[in-house]
Amino acid sequence: MADVTLTIDGQTVQAQAGETILQAARAAGVEIPTICYHEACTSNGLCRQCVVEVEGARVLAAACVAPVAPGMQVQTRSERVERSRRTLLEMLASTVDLSEAPEILAMLDEYGGHPQRFPDATLRRPALIDDNPMYVRDYAKCILCWRCVQVCAEDAQYTYAINFSGRGFDTQIGTFFDRPMPLTTCVFCGQCVGVCPSGALKPRREHLLEQGLTPSEIAVQGRGERRRKAAREVEG
Ligand code: SF4
Repeated sequence: MADVTLTIDGQTVQAQAGETILQAARAAGVEIPTICYHEACTSNGLCRQCVVEVEGARVLAAACVAPVAPGMQVQTRSERVERSRRTLLEMLASTVDLSEAPEILAMLDEYGGHPQRFPDATLRRPALIDDNPMYVRDYAKCILCWRCVQVCAEDAQYTYAINFSGRGFDTQIGTFFDRPMPLTTCVFCGQCVGVCPSGALKPRREHLLEQGLTPSEIAVQGRGERRRKAAREVEG
């Protein structure tokens, strides 16, 4: 039963107590952009792309985690909101390779962002990591949305193979002591690949096809890798 009345962009909206502003807005047909948000993951308000202006509040609120309240007046496209979203998109585009994140590039375009305002800001990240038969990791494309970590942990798999590592500009996703993925608790369920929005995680077969290998070359390579693995196990 609807028990909270608020206004979003001047429109009166009914919501359930405990719902977030994002849920109430989407139910009312008001679109708020998101990046780190995924309906299968716990919301954390990490990317701040969903910020909205709540009358009387000192700071912008992340709509994916901020709960609705009676009488709340929310602006989703105020000048302050748009400037904040544009700046965040510019910072993202100036630091990370977004070439395989079309939704984020579309947002950058929509908000009129100019990432060249932040020259030479590209983050130093390790080269593509190809250490297992199932998927590759290209952290130059990682936007640190945390979805992969969440589905690897309590949101789905309870495997805890990956997490944040480093601080500040050196923050990235990694394994414990940077161990190769086969030496971690990873069970290769593929859920991290499924939720990655930026192409940082990709099925290895897709990666090899992009590199120009044919399906039969990939199959031969896979058989060779399996033989070498079996030989290593026999040798102990
Ligand atoms: S690897 Fe993908 S899912 Fe994981 S934090 Fe980076 S962008 Fe997000």
